[in-house]
Parts: sequence; structure tokens; C-alpha cells
Amino acid sequence: MPDTAAPVKCLVWDLDNTLWQGTLLEDPQVLLPDSVRDVVMALDSRGILQSIASKNDYDKAWSRLEELGLAEYFVLPRIGWGRKSDSVIEIAERLNFAHSAIAFIDDQPAERAEVTFHAPEVRCYPADEALMLPGRAEFSPEVVTVDARRRRQMYQANFRREAEKESFTGPDEEFLRSLDLVMRIGRADGEDLSRVEELTLRTSQMNATGVHYSDAVLRGLLTDPDHEVLTITLTDRFGPHGAVGVMLLERHLAVWHLKLLATSCRVVSFGAGAVILNWLIDQAARAEVHLAADFRRTDRNRMMEIAYRFAGFTDEACGCIAALGTDGTGHRDAAGPGGADIERMHLIPARRSEPATMRLMSPDLASYARG
Ligand SMILES: [Zn+2]
Repeated sequence: MPDTAAPVKCLVWDLDNTLWQGTLLEDPQVLLPDSVRDVVMALDSRGILQSIASKNDYDKAWSRLEELGLAEYFVLPRIGWGRKSDSVIEIAERLNFAHSAIAFIDDQPAERAEVTFHAPEVRCYPADEALMLPGRAEFSPEVVTVDARRRRQMYQANFRREAEKESFTGPDEEFLRSLDLVMRIGRADGEDLSRVEELTLRTSQMNATGVHYSDAVLRGLLTDPDHEVLTITLTDRFGPHGAVGVMLLERHLAVWHLKLLATSCRVVSFGAGAVILNWLIDQAARAEVHLAADFRRTDRNRMMEIAYRFAGFTDEACGCIAALGTDGTGHRDAAGPGGADIERMHLIPARRSEPATMRLMSPDLASYARG
């Protein structure tokens, strides 16, 4: 049985007598009611992806969608003569979404039953409920972040990027350079934080501390002069990747304490973790402070440990660590969920060179520390 309350991440539309009124093969001028167009727009603005599973002639259906100005709103359309359940399952697989995150709307009870038979977790809705969807809880995410509002564009950019990568024959580093990657590291503001929370929830794999910092804790630290909350975004010539990382740093006189570094697994192949660590090490070298980094081993963050080691962090003892306290978080108000199993890695920084594969825009932490 489907979970009726879980948020829907992608809605798959039937076309004839569901999205539009009429059957395209009988009536090339099928009508799209404004009220249905409004539903598509509303769901899109909430970050809910939309796709198509329709038994139709692909070229005819797609050109009608283009005429109606709606084609760009749908990702991975499946228009042909195959089973709808196959289309829906393929769409879920390609998006890497669980079936429980997919919804399907169709006027034909037999089509809905066919999808339910092969993919029972997919939630099916009759076409006459289309106008009610935006009012339903499962289509109403609590927080709609900047990244959610442009989620569709990010997916579309990623499909183009993947296609380009498949056809690219040179070395990986050359491909990365061809993307014109730009990384922005910036001090977080209030709006960034919801993106950051979404990110740290989704990216346990690359979360070096293996701990979740809540929105409230990070928000409190925004105004703490000893702390830096930094967000990392990435764009390239295909479009935005959105927020791809978050860093929480506490400044002491002789040492900067890296309490959290999480990066999205979507950008691992771009070497984002190494670029961020190199930037931080260079900033610390200019500020003439040591670096200490918290690390809690989980069964999913081995990649991050490798990134730290590769950047030069070691387990060697150093006098500077005493400044961080012994509560496992090094912070008086327990700003981080501490714990005895947090290891502290250490590094004596030296200047690092600029990344070779991307342009980096970042604040100057070093001069702030001296001023
Ligand atoms: Zn030290």
C-alpha cells in the first residue's frame, strides 16, 4: 500500500483527457484548460518534478506540448505505445527516486490499475482530481528552498551534462575544464540555511562529522563572531548545481576548528571536497593558524576521510588542540552534537595553489582574522 502522506517528488501525467481535453490523434487542437496549466506551474514552483507517460505519437504529442508552451516543464517524457507501468518505473529509476515518491495521474481506471499492479508504491490519481492536487498535503512541501524552485532546471542541466560526458572522449580533467565550473564559497545568510539543512540531511555520505546540525543551531551561529557558517554553490555552462556544500568553522587564536564539512554526493566527481579543503588550508596558512577537523567515522563517509588525509590532515598531537576544549565539540554551548567517538585531525597549513579545474570565488577569512 502506498504511503499517502509521504511527499511526492515527481508527478507523471497522462496526456489525453488528463492533461488536456480530447484525444490528440482524433483532434490535433486538444485544449489545455488554464486551470490545469496553473496546476503544472504551481507544482513546478514547489520543486516537484513532472513527467509524462502517454500512449501517443511522440512527435505529435511533443509538438503540441511545445505549442502550448508546456514542453519545458516535463522531464524524461515517455510517449509511445508501451506499458504505462514500464514508463513510470523507468522515470523513477532515471531520477533515482523510490516508487513511493512518484505519483501518476490518468483518466483511465485500467491504466491506473496496471501501474498499481506493477508498482504498488506509486500513488495513482484519477484525472478529475488534477485541480485538487496542489491542495493536498503530499504535494505541499513544508519548505520550498531556492534550489527546490529551480530543481527542474537543475535536473535538465544535469541530463545535458551527462549526455555531454558520455560523448566526451578526452581525459576526465579535460572534461572538467570544459565545463567552465565556478565554485562560490560564501558566508551563509538566513535564506541559505534551509538549503543547507536540506543538503546535510541528504548527504550523510559526505558528511565528515556524521552529525546533523539543525537549522536552529546553524542560524544561531550566523551572528556568533567566533563562527563562520559557509555555503558552497557550484555552476557550470549547463546551469546551476545549487548548494553543494556547507562548512562550519570556529576560530580560535592559534587554530581554526573545522566542525562540519558536508558536500553533496552529486559533485564528488568534480573533486569539490578537495577544492574546498585546499581553499581552507590556504586561508589558514595566510592567517598563520593551525587547522583541526572533527571527524566521526560512519559506514558511509569513508570518501570524506580520504579527502581529509589526501589534503594532509593527520592524527598527530599538537598543543593547539587544547584550545578546543575536551567536550568533543570544543564549544561552550554545545553548538555541535558532540560525542566521544569524534576524532580530531590536525594540519599545519602551507600555502596552496588555485584549483586547476574550476574558478573559485570566496571570502577572505585570513584578513578578517587579523583585523
Ligand atoms: Zn596545531
